[in-house]
Amino acid sequence: MAIDFTLPADVTAVRDRIRAFMQERVAPAEARMRTDGGWRKGLGALRDEARAAGLWAPHMPREWGGMGLGPLAMAFVSAECGRTTMGAYILNCHAPDEGNMHTLLHHADDAQKERYLRPLAAGEVRSCFALTEPEVAGSDPTGIRTTAVKDGDNWVLNGHKWFISGARGAKFAIVIAKTDPDAEPPQARNTAFLVDCDTPGWEIVRDIETMAGHGNHCEIRLTNCVVSGANLLAGRGQGHRLGQARLGPARLAHCMRWIGNAEVALEMMVKRATERELHGGVLADKQAIQWKMAESAMELYAAKLMVLHAAYLIEKGMPFRQEVSMAKHHVANTLWRVVDRAIQVHGALGYSTDTPLESMLRHARSARLVDGADEVHMQQIALHVIEAFRETGGTRRATGADLL
Ligand SMILES: Cc1cc2nc3c(=O)[nH]c(=O)nc-3n(C[C@H](O)[C@H](O)[C@H](O)COP(=O)(O)OP(=O)(O)OC[C@H]3O[C@@H](n4cnc5c(N)ncnc54)[C@H](O)[C@@H]3O)c2cc1C
Repeated sequence: MAIDFTLPADVTAVRDRIRAFMQERVAPAEARMRTDGGWRKGLGALRDEARAAGLWAPHMPREWGGMGLGPLAMAFVSAECGRTTMGAYILNCHAPDEGNMHTLLHHADDAQKERYLRPLAAGEVRSCFALTEPEVAGSDPTGIRTTAVKDGDNWVLNGHKWFISGARGAKFAIVIAKTDPDAEPPQARNTAFLVDCDTPGWEIVRDIETMAGHGNHCEIRLTNCVVSGANLLAGRGQGHRLGQARLGPARLAHCMRWIGNAEVALEMMVKRATERELHGGVLADKQAIQWKMAESAMELYAAKLMVLHAAYLIEKGMPFRQEVSMAKHHVANTLWRVVDRAIQVHGALGYSTDTPLESMLRHARSARLVDGADEVHMQQIALHVIEAFRETGGTRRATGADLL
């Protein structure tokens, strides 16, 4: 029997170390930072502590200063990080830098790695990933209008991006631009460039205010932004492929952190339900409230299994798109539902800003949009189901890689 759900000892050991670090160092520091109002103060010291404890850049190979963990072990690390607000940043495995590090590791040439990946992995700089544009549907990146035109050894970029997470303060961006408007298929029209954010013509228009406040999701203008040919990443016409390759594991990393968020919400729900007295008992005695707990527990369990299986497929170099899409959709919606139920169980308190739940709900809403909206994943999932049926007469291949 090949299936063994026992975690390897090294994964358990890493998870326990990260768990202890998050519980003992990060969570109390965050609580202090919140009450002090000095949210950013102390983050640098915590990052130094993580580095000294050997908990730095867990997703990066050891030769890049990381812990050398694969996607499966990262599932546990990210879920622990997701139980705090800044845990992933403190370990230097936060979005979008984590995805950009992977992208550079696998697609950059040696000179690009030294110049961009080295300081990023060391946590000396931050980065961003610029694909989405206001004028065209982000769900169909073949339509982007930002252009890159060759000029001698350089490329000249012009365009308009928005919702570029982490742009303010980023040292460089991976920008997707159109270089070959007539190429077929349309997926061959876009190219990725490494753009230094101090390049003349790179302009942050604003930090877009969202329902979760200002989260450094910026609107950017590129006006005659000159980029050296040496900064073309992964080959001309490879921008779409690179974006997809980046998004697969990056989507999963989001899911892992969302599982940590959802766990916190469920724990808050249960705590409140077991303490709140009414009608001769506590809320937790009521079947309607128990169902909320049961539904949340079942959804969370399924979320964990889906994420672990998708991580396993990535780690083994097997096709993973279908499973990552299913996991992404399920976890994003699970997070939304669990937080919403936790608010319901808290009553008016849940609607107040006295608990973190309202903020969690506002942040959770973006999970159903980022890295592919719900409907885009549903469409992809359905297409795989249809294809599997047409080719094999069954749907097993598209419902968990022939698991059962
Ligand atoms: C908080 C946040 C952070 C982000 N960070 C980044 C970033 O760092 N870099 C970056 O490049 N982008 C980023 N984005 C943008 C994000 O990737 C896009 O919002 C997403 O791809 C959807 O694109 P869109 O907003 O243009 O919506 P559209 O493509 O216009 O789609 C609108 C809606 O149409 C529906 N829809 C789309 N396609 C289909 C379909 N085939 N069938 C049925 N319905 C469909 C969906 O409900 C979708 O929400 C971020 C967005 C948010 C909210």
